[in-house]
Amino acid sequence: MSASPLAAGTTPSWTTLAQEFPALQQTVNGHPLVYLDSAATSLKPTAVIDAVCEYYRDYPSNVHRSVHTLAGRATEAYEAARTQVAGFIGAQPDTLVFTHGTTESLNLVAYGWARRHLQPGDEILLTPAEHHSNLVPWQQAARATGAHLVYVDLTPEGRLDLAALRAAFTARTRLVALAHVSNVLGTENPIRDVVQLAHRQDAVVVVDGAQSVPHLPVSVSDLGVDFFAFSGHKMCGPTGIGGLYGRPERLAETDPLLYGGEMIAEVDRERATWADVPYRFEGGTPNVAGAIGLGAAVAFLDRVGMDRIAAHSRALAQEAAERLTQLPGVTVYGPPTDRQALVTFNCEGVHPHDVAQVLDSQGIAVRAGHHCAQPLMQTLAIQSSARASFYLYNTREDVDRLVDGLREVGRYFGR
Ligand code: PMP
Repeated sequence: MSASPLAAGTTPSWTTLAQEFPALQQTVNGHPLVYLDSAATSLKPTAVIDAVCEYYRDYPSNVHRSVHTLAGRATEAYEAARTQVAGFIGAQPDTLVFTHGTTESLNLVAYGWARRHLQPGDEILLTPAEHHSNLVPWQQAARATGAHLVYVDLTPEGRLDLAALRAAFTARTRLVALAHVSNVLGTENPIRDVVQLAHRQDAVVVVDGAQSVPHLPVSVSDLGVDFFAFSGHKMCGPTGIGGLYGRPERLAETDPLLYGGEMIAEVDRERATWADVPYRFEGGTPNVAGAIGLGAAVAFLDRVGMDRIAAHSRALAQEAAERLTQLPGVTVYGPPTDRQALVTFNCEGVHPHDVAQVLDSQGIAVRAGHHCAQPLMQTLAIQSSARASFYLYNTREDVDRLVDGLREVGRYFGR
């Protein structure tokens, strides 16, 4: 990192920062790459790539097992990453479980907590804007326990309707599951208000932070949530690593998802006892390189500053939303203001896959599809949409390229 502009302790420009991302130093279909798909997965800075390579090259050992020097170094680096990542989300290290990402984290709660605690007739509150990863696990938990899913509708603008949420609570409400930031609408949900309402009823709040932790300063202890899930690959870290935060009392009443090595205290022929939290939730050899890479990612994000990143991505998304709205035949989804780092849209008469294809031919990467949010697509009365998502390596020139690219889509399809 000594050559990095970040190491100098200055505030590098966004263009300078983009040079930290090797994937951006390429052309795609003859054009400099404009990467607008960070909500699916982010690019990785050199610092993260180096940290992962260093582990594999210099100390590729298992953790919490052998006593030799390399194993000690691996264990130290893995636990240092836990401390660093926990600090990044305002948590204590022993409340952070390393998982392979948001999906596994939510499944751990759905299997380990919900199946143990939900009774027939209990209610789970959700919104129709949830990603399938924060929806299907609850459908399955409800099926297994006899609990019911209760959906709280959004306002016509696509925001959480707090009055409707308040009205949806009953004596049987046991769990509220919702995203911190929607991966389609870009809305940020008022988690503190939700927690206040839920805790009055002794309901547990599970937050899907996949789209918030990469973009906003997040403190799980300030938010007061019971469980909080996130993915490393969306925040400059490697794939296959993420986390679940749980309040200590909640983790203590959660069953493990994976049984086997690493997660036990004692085993005899008939039974076993579990290691302490969080190790009892990390059965088998963990993703050591991933955790170390995620540690490097949060160190990188911290050096840039989460407040700066939040303001930057939000400004780009807002500008893109306003300019796309003015293009003929383009519909932008989600509220007109307070948009987080993404904009979801459709071009009248053109399938979003075709939109993405024509943009790709100009070196612009966007996502097209249902964004793993089919109930929300049904609410919006569409099959699919295109989505441009922004991060710290994007610039205003990228917004210009997107707008020009969409004009080209219009010309291509004779609009
Ligand atoms: N929730 C939201 C809001 C997401 O955007 C995503 C990723 N698209 C997920 C959950 C699932 O994350 P992962 O695939 O990393 O488990």
